[in-house]
Amino acid sequence: MADKIKGKGVISGIAVGTILLAGQNLDGYLVNYKPGKLDAEKKKAADALVTVADSMKKSIDDFNEKGLKEQAAILEAHRMIIEDPALSGAIDEKLDECGSAPKAVLDAAEANAQIFEAMEDEVFRGRAVDIRDVGKRIAKYLLGIKEPEIVGKVIVAGKEIEPSVIAGLPTDKIAGVILGAGSTTAHAVIIAKTRAIPTVVGVGDGIDQMANGDPAILDGGTGEILIRPSDKERAGYDEKIKKQEELKAFYATLKTLPAKTLDGAEVELVANIGSPKDADAAIKDFGATGVGLFRSEFVFMGKTDIPQEEDQFKEYKAAVEKCATVTHGEGLCVIRTMDIGGDKPLPYIQVGEEENPFLGYRAIRISLKREDLFLPQLKAILRAGKFGKAAIMFPMVINVQEFLDAKAMVEKAKRELASEGKDYSDDVQVGIMVETPAAAVMAPILAKYVDFFSIGTNDLVQYTLAVDRGNAQISYLYNHFNPAVLRLIKRTIESANKEGKWAGMCGEMASDPNAAILLLAMGIKELSMSAPSIPRVKEKIRKITSSKAQEILDKVMEMEDGDKIRDYLAALVV
Ligand code: PEP
Ligand code: MG
Repeated sequence: MADKIKGKGVISGIAVGTILLAGQNLDGYLVNYKPGKLDAEKKKAADALVTVADSMKKSIDDFNEKGLKEQAAILEAHRMIIEDPALSGAIDEKLDECGSAPKAVLDAAEANAQIFEAMEDEVFRGRAVDIRDVGKRIAKYLLGIKEPEIVGKVIVAGKEIEPSVIAGLPTDKIAGVILGAGSTTAHAVIIAKTRAIPTVVGVGDGIDQMANGDPAILDGGTGEILIRPSDKERAGYDEKIKKQEELKAFYATLKTLPAKTLDGAEVELVANIGSPKDADAAIKDFGATGVGLFRSEFVFMGKTDIPQEEDQFKEYKAAVEKCATVTHGEGLCVIRTMDIGGDKPLPYIQVGEEENPFLGYRAIRISLKREDLFLPQLKAILRAGKFGKAAIMFPMVINVQEFLDAKAMVEKAKRELASEGKDYSDDVQVGIMVETPAAAVMAPILAKYVDFFSIGTNDLVQYTLAVDRGNAQISYLYNHFNPAVLRLIKRTIESANKEGKWAGMCGEMASDPNAAILLLAMGIKELSMSAPSIPRVKEKIRKITSSKAQEILDKVMEMEDGDKIRDYLAALVV
């Protein structure tokens, strides 16, 4: 019988592989290491810095070539840590104290990490993880520890997964990811999502039950993990995997078909992306008809400085052009202005210590205060609009004035572009995310001003229910079918439609086929999700009529409990 562990499934799919533990302990190796003379150790350490930085450079080039921007950005940040004289200086000092190159590297990295950890600014505190990660990588090289040879597919597991571990493994080698922490916004999870790797988070100490090389099975839908499964248990999953393959083949046949109900009501199914490359895969592999959320903060992440208008323009243009290639549907590319702060800090934007970062200086609040960041971004989007259909979307709006101020900046961006003689589109829609209860309550008024709404349920659920979206302990309360949430969503969609505007959704709820039925009946026009979910949602929409969807919605709106609503929808056969 296998050891069974349960976590929260965040990326669906069944994974079979052997466990590869991230976050290896090096103590045993250090004890057995025999240092040479001090000068020789110093040279060894200096050479190791160069060799490891060089090997990272190769991986970075490789990732960039393949369009894997997020992975490249993470490794680039690590390479800069290695090349920072602060690290080599600290290693020299530690070598004078202990005489062992690998120990000095680890001690120096730890000392530097602690300096960052003691800083007030949360962003800098976050860098400590990266510094320790880099120190470990160099020490492993010095200790001659080879990364375990990967035979077949691995399931990467760790309480915290160091960013370089997952970024450094080729996609075809990773079957799954298991994270001890509950975060769905950890770097590891972000990368797994764009690569559609089945992932379970929040298993806590369950990680201690796994050893390197253990065979394992993971279900990213249910959150179930089996360590060392018996042949019989494995055979049970073989059947599921076969079904998964058959389903994949069936989904492929849906790719070019519209998301239309049996009586002809159509919804746009589009993709959430972090880079133009994601748009390519979403359209080609999953039949997305555009992009409903380009999380532009990915263009800003992993850099040491603010990306200039020109760099941003290239990224947005590539995504807009890609969307313009769709053969059916709108081909719209909705670019969200940077949603920095909260769970997405940046090293070059000082947010300062905050007790509640999710309720703090973030998103549109930063943009409106930082014209030097906002204006170049708006100009880059307006210019990209010339190459297809682009839309600008502001995150975290809570009132009309914020939208008006942001819209005024769009007009200013246009004036500047005109005076600089740069080509731009005057036909770029401007809308907002409805992800705060304030925006949802004010939707009837906001709808008069905006071109569109896109409902961000990831935040709307957490703010409405006062339930942290990343906290595994209270995740049982985090339910997008909670009647309070459903009422805000319905109000938002109806308010848009009343003013002749369109409403879409780009939070995770959009990828839930059962939610799609309700949203359809509420009058939603677009659902945006991580691309691998598109076929499931499309299948559901193509099987139902508008009147049946309405009947189900009417029943659901009479129900008083979110869990009961979820169960009711799950049990429906439509
Ligand atoms: C949301 O809040 O629903 C959303 C899509 O934005 P993010 O997940 O990037 O906060
Ligand atoms: Mg959000």
